Amino acid sequence: MWLMAPGTRPITENKLRALFVTSEIHPLIKTGGLADVSAALPAALRQVGVDIKVLVPGYRHILAGLHRTRLLARLDAYPGMEEVRLLSARMPDTGVPVIVVDHPPSYDRDGGPYVDAGGHDWPDNGERFGLFSRVAALLGSSGTPLKWRPDILHCNDWQAGLAPAYLHFQPGPRAATIMTVHNLAFQGVFPYAFVSRLGLPPESFHVNGVEYYGQMSFLKAGLYYANHITTVSPTYGMEIQGEPLGFGLQGLLAGRRDHLTGILNGVDAGHWNPETDPYLAKPYGRGRIAGKKANKLALQERFGLQANAEIPLLAMISRITDQKGSDLVLDIAPALIASPAQLFILGTGDVALEQGFTKLARRHPAHVRTVIGFDEGLSHLLEAGADIFLMPSRFEPCGLNQMYSQLYGTPPVVHATGGLADTVVDVTPETIRNGTATGFVAGQLNAATLLETTRRAIDTYHDKRLWRAIQRNGMGQDFSWERSARAYLNLYGSLLTPSA
Ligand code: ADP
Repeated sequence: MWLMAPGTRPITENKLRALFVTSEIHPLIKTGGLADVSAALPAALRQVGVDIKVLVPGYRHILAGLHRTRLLARLDAYPGMEEVRLLSARMPDTGVPVIVVDHPPSYDRDGGPYVDAGGHDWPDNGERFGLFSRVAALLGSSGTPLKWRPDILHCNDWQAGLAPAYLHFQPGPRAATIMTVHNLAFQGVFPYAFVSRLGLPPESFHVNGVEYYGQMSFLKAGLYYANHITTVSPTYGMEIQGEPLGFGLQGLLAGRRDHLTGILNGVDAGHWNPETDPYLAKPYGRGRIAGKKANKLALQERFGLQANAEIPLLAMISRITDQKGSDLVLDIAPALIASPAQLFILGTGDVALEQGFTKLARRHPAHVRTVIGFDEGLSHLLEAGADIFLMPSRFEPCGLNQMYSQLYGTPPVVHATGGLADTVVDVTPETIRNGTATGFVAGQLNAATLLETTRRAIDTYHDKRLWRAIQRNGMGQDFSWERSARAYLNLYGSLLTPSA
């Protein structure tokens, strides 16, 4: 029995135990939204009474960022492989307990978690994340070396995808498994030989198993063997059951639709709040939006844009890729700046697109600024200083920046897909009347529609009263992690009932 009556204090022994398995976590290591989710969701689940720990690979950055790590256990993950050490620590900011899979040959190296300094996938990614998944499964099985065994093994993205498969073939009592998809485009596909190399039974290599067009897929393994699948928005949960966003897995996902739930991510209010954000030139809030202007001027001055409070400043912060619609923004940029408007691009990604934005900025120095790189502080100042946020993703499992931008009084321009469709309400006469309008939604995605939708945003920006109302609507949204955590808690509970 783990459920608590409302208002009762959690009793440690009766708490539901969950192990959150993730390959990145903010602020220790981050390549995308998964890191933010991995930091905030476990903290929020702890607040609602879950006894949660986070399992991460022992990358150099993770070990350097954790203090007072303690040896928990040693384990043999595969026959003949040198032993893995499990270390325990706590997250420096939230205090959430962390278990580190310490195996220096796999994780202790320069470069990123998935790619080397030259941007190429590590050649042993299959082995590295096979090991990570294997350890997660062992901790969820009766063979765990730890006293603490989770009721729920919550696996995230392909890097943890093999854990439900390993666990499926473990004898004895074991944790219920959840596979959460943050982005179906990344699947972890490796040659057939990995089935035996990673110690999976040969019968798992089957269309009803890990097989994927003659190869093996980590993500498919998770989607097939997990007790339940979640994804990070209800609309994306529907979209991946069909073409084209199912990326070849639509049949499996449609077949498992009764075990598939979309739960929106939240926003980490500790990091994303314009009233307390240390990166801003001046704090502001819903009741005093005027303070936002100082951030715009600070940005314009610092980056050599024409200092002008009236000209709309459009910002985009993202991986510079086709997924994010960066190519379309590049196409319409000349027409936008002629409106007139200013454009600020922050991101890294596709080299040709990066060069396109860099050239554009060189040609229009007073109106365009391109910063190629990953800059946390600047991303906050941009959310605050911009007037309009551009996020025309072709697909977007949940997306975070469209939520940040609403909370920062910077209405977003988005495409009606995935989490963007679930979190942005288009400005129409009706939504203006009923006070729900928060942004500008393009129904189709092509350069003409995006230009038209962005122009609609720019025109609305010049209607000061209406704009203020839209800003207030956005700034009043409840994107709290507590809301998401309660949805996950319900799901965790449902998987532990005898009928599950
Ligand atoms: P995805 O995970 O698909 O890249 P999300 O919108 O879900 O996209 O999350 C991306 C996260 O990374 C957000 O917190 C965003 O602000 C941040 N981000 C992306 N690119 C940059 C950058 N160049 N500099 C700073 N932060 C960035």
